[in-house]
Amino acid sequence: RSEKKDIYYEVNREAARFFYKALRFGDNPGLRYVAKRGLTKETLHEFGIGYADGEWNSLYNHLKSKGYDEKIMLKLGLISTSKGKYYDKFRNRVIFPIQNTAGKVIGFGGRAIGDDMPKYLNSQETPVFSKKNNLYGLNITKNYVNKEDCAILVEGYMDVISLYQGGVLNVSASLGTALTENQAKLLKRYTKNIVLSYDADNAGVTASIRGSEILYKEGCKVRILHISDGKDPDDFIKAKGKLAYYKLVDEAVDYGDYRIEHIKKKHDISTTRGRVDFLREIAVFLNTLSPVEADIYVKKVAQNYGISESALRLEMGQDAKAEE
Ligand code: ATP
Ligand code: MN
Ligand code: MN
Ligand code: MN
Repeated sequence: RSEKKDIYYEVNREAARFFYKALRFGDNPGLRYVAKRGLTKETLHEFGIGYADGEWNSLYNHLKSKGYDEKIMLKLGLISTSKGKYYDKFRNRVIFPIQNTAGKVIGFGGRAIGDDMPKYLNSQETPVFSKKNNLYGLNITKNYVNKEDCAILVEGYMDVISLYQGGVLNVSASLGTALTENQAKLLKRYTKNIVLSYDADNAGVTASIRGSEILYKEGCKVRILHISDGKDPDDFIKAKGKLAYYKLVDEAVDYGDYRIEHIKKKHDISTTRGRVDFLREIAVFLNTLSPVEADIYVKKVAQNYGISESALRLEMGQDAKAEE
């Protein structure tokens, strides 16, 4: 399409190939690290996982030898420059190439092998990479998402890779950022049914609330999965296996129920004050739902919390009389 972009894709592809070969060549810290995390040869191949060694110029020298210009490498965030010298950005890391759904290499994620910070280093925004418009793994998994008419959305690279290796194929990740509207739109090209499977920690819960809200607003049917053992889907499937994970998928909670449960946790509904605050917040939430869904949840909440439907509808600003 755009010839100007082609050179960026080409250099990224060459970098990915370089990292991949480095991982597969002999014994090295990268290979030991991915082995420790249980990745098979097939997985390394499928995802093109690579290794950036600890030297300052390995990739730079390689790309130079292929005749590529520093300017392009800089633009792609593969190198940085200081005092007229060039340095590889990714060093001493396991490399996850990020591809768009057309299969072009658009960026990289690099996981520290040791205790280097940050734990994950991602490509900066470049002419071909924008975090908020892409989902990790979808180039590989989109056909499965399409076939199953369902996508499982996770936080991290390793969650995608472990689930996939474990036989859960319809998976993709939001690249560590909070899910964006554009990512929801991208996913919707393949399915409207989304299971959010974020980490079990507080950050994961917050991301589930915001992510599910965005997906719902885009017209998706969202359910939220709770990881019962371990921190994230990667831990879970390694410890418990595919069938146990599918059980969690089955038990994933509908968007409305999840949001109501979450609001409930914020209030002490054994007190009058707490019940009033709870129901006020519920009313605000119910107003964000489609009329049909709002109606279902009004009835459900009224029944579960022993208040009248009409009071709840009044609180929502609906005319109670007109409803009855
Ligand atoms: P691992 O299992 O390798 O420790 P993880 O995927 O469980 O990694 P989390 O801390 O849960 O790591 O983060 C989820 C995702 O968020 C990562 O896969 C990465 O995409 C992104 N991420 C995490 N830490 C950073 C960081 N410091 N900078 C940028 N992105 C990050
Ligand atoms: Mn996390
Ligand atoms: Mn993890
Ligand atoms: Mn995690």
